[in-house]
Amino acid sequence: MNSIKENLKHIRKTIPEEVTLVAVSKTKPISDILEAYQSGQRIFGENKIQEMTNKWEEMPKDISWHMIGHVQTNKVKFMAPYVDTIHAVDSFKLLKEINKQAVKNDRTINCLLQIKIAQEESKFGLDISEAESLLNSQEVKSLANITITGLMGMATFTDNKEQIKNEFNSIQSFFEKLKTDHSTLKTLSIGMSGDYQLAIEHGSTMVRIGSSIFGARNYSH
Ligand SMILES: *Cc1c(COP(=O)(O)O)cnc(C)c1O
Repeated sequence: MNSIKENLKHIRKTIPEEVTLVAVSKTKPISDILEAYQSGQRIFGENKIQEMTNKWEEMPKDISWHMIGHVQTNKVKFMAPYVDTIHAVDSFKLLKEINKQAVKNDRTINCLLQIKIAQEESKFGLDISEAESLLNSQEVKSLANITITGLMGMATFTDNKEQIKNEFNSIQSFFEKLKTDHSTLKTLSIGMSGDYQLAIEHGSTMVRIGSSIFGARNYSH
């Protein structure tokens, strides 16, 4: 197996400079994150708030932490002191809570709206029309301590490239359309280890890559 350092180097070579790499370190130990850090990586993604907070406490403070998992409203307060970007925002209630906790911490928190693009039932996210009404809502615009910086999507877990392409196509065209009216939208967070090349072909500005950097994950529970 290659080292984390070699994997990172390889991935950086295969993505354009302007595409942001989020290294998804969920389930991985501090020693792995440190190895990536020492190779220059400064943006890490986690999907559990408690785990991310433990890692934040132990790791150097110039890291940007991205929450990429589903967020329960009552847990926002634990990450509000430090989280940079929350990727999977899917309701007004959650935006309001993120803003409230950001105010308490005198910070601004970046939010991405998760768009439902996959055919699969289990995926969270907003329909295109729901995302549009959130972005246009005066109530949302009045939330001064959050910035909606873009959209996030997850394609169906499948080997069918055509299906993944169609799903990325739909979020890409929606993103392009919204960008003309909403100047804060800069980020299209699509692409994981298995599909990031395809995502970049469809306008991804931020890829979330875990196993291709850190190796396969072990879920022992
Ligand atoms: C785990 C995860 C990733 C990374 O997946 P890999 O296939 O290991 O690259 C990306 N995005 C989300 C939302 C995830 O939960």
